[in-house]
Amino acid sequence: MATSSQPVRVRFAPSPTGHLHLGGARTALYDYLLARQTGGQFILRIEDSDRRRFVPGAEEEIYASLRWLGIDWDEGPDVGGDYGPYRQSERKEIYQQYADQLIESGHAFTCFCTPERLDLVRSEQQRRKEPPHYDGTCRNLSADEVKPRVAAGERHVIRFKMPQEGTTTVTDLLRGEITVENRTLDDYILVRSDGLALYHLAAAVDDHLMKITHVIRGSEWLPSLPLHSLIHRTFGWQEPVWVHLSVFLKPSGKGKMSKRESAELIQDGHSIFVKDLEKLGYLPEAVVNWTALMGWSYDDHTEVFTLPDLVEKFSLEKLNPSPAAINFTKLDHFNGLHIRALPLDELVQRMKPFFIEKGYQPDDATLAKIAPIVQERLQGMDDAPELAGFFFKPDVQPDAAELVIKDLTSAESAELAKKILAILESLPDLKPETAEPPMRELVEQSGLKAGQVFGLMRIAITAQRVSPPLFESMEIIGKDKVLARMRRAVGLLEAM
Ligand code: GLU
Repeated sequence: MATSSQPVRVRFAPSPTGHLHLGGARTALYDYLLARQTGGQFILRIEDSDRRRFVPGAEEEIYASLRWLGIDWDEGPDVGGDYGPYRQSERKEIYQQYADQLIESGHAFTCFCTPERLDLVRSEQQRRKEPPHYDGTCRNLSADEVKPRVAAGERHVIRFKMPQEGTTTVTDLLRGEITVENRTLDDYILVRSDGLALYHLAAAVDDHLMKITHVIRGSEWLPSLPLHSLIHRTFGWQEPVWVHLSVFLKPSGKGKMSKRESAELIQDGHSIFVKDLEKLGYLPEAVVNWTALMGWSYDDHTEVFTLPDLVEKFSLEKLNPSPAAINFTKLDHFNGLHIRALPLDELVQRMKPFFIEKGYQPDDATLAKIAPIVQERLQGMDDAPELAGFFFKPDVQPDAAELVIKDLTSAESAELAKKILAILESLPDLKPETAEPPMRELVEQSGLKAGQVFGLMRIAITAQRVSPPLFESMEIIGKDKVLARMRRAVGLLEAM
């Protein structure tokens, strides 16, 4: 069995039919890791042969999502390469040539059966409780019978002539040998009536011509593996190493996630789509770390990995074929860890779009001051505006009722606010080391709890119950604004 020490050529072959989801992202990630680790090539191939399912913009979104994750590729529709074109819709003639070869060698046949007849066959099979399969009507038409009908423009498809006896044994790197009875396999369609090669033929031809050494993909493709292997063998090509990754299950672990369930996740701040995860405040570093561990582990305790770590440590041998439940709690955990690990200037740049998105106009200088005091407190990047948006507001509007401190009347709260104001006014500046000690003294003298005094200040100055550390925040806001806000708080309390 080939292992990953030789330079590999691997491909990620998405169909541009929607958003890049976790399954695709994981495949692309493993491809990328293996290519970078072995000094091989990672190829991006767009499998758009079925134009009916084509979604405009999907290809561009796949590129953007991969790049956001930090994954780049060596060959692909947008970057070129020696084995192009890399879009299947541009390789139609190539597939036709190979389909013709299969017909000539007797491994494929032209089939003129109409959809109506095939429907009848299928209903009949259903009635007999047989699995649906092609009934072989056109399998043995001679070339002399076929040629004039094709020439006359009769509608036809090309089917693979599946051996009717014997067995086919294929090997998956994670699952070992898999043997199927050939009679359970169908005469699959290779080329549709509109002349377009179907995925099975196109993928096999491309994997061969693009010199792919390892096919890594989701295990939903396992049922097609015997056919894919047989196509390679029929042409006498060396098969790639087949690696079918584990299936993702719902967070509950019970079954696969439906389309509707996937769409609904967003209500809880989660998603299986990479594009959404970015908007929801996840760092690409966290998504990469999390995804890498959904089906692979390094050992039984290391869990934090950066992309360069993964390039070094990833190995096919440690892939786990068992289904894995999607665990968003883990993603949140990784997000926190990776946010804490960001250099501050990087955190500034990553936070910025989240403030802008909420209508703030953040400047780098203020962001740089905020970054160290929020870094420990962010669970997601989307928390940043909620926690620290007030820094970019010219003013805040606390609710008078909220200024009334727990266990105090409004008059007592007003008294307290006045004392706070007087102390702050008397200070030369509002550096934490200047402002905190007298406030602590006030707590002592008044016999109140720190939470009561600081709570009032926090509401008055930030209009939030939760904020970054108060004294650091006051310094950033500036003395004039802080005093103005305290004065207003006094006024609001007195007017109650
Ligand atoms: N186009 C297929 C998909 O969308 C690729 C499967 C494969 O990697 O062979 O999943």
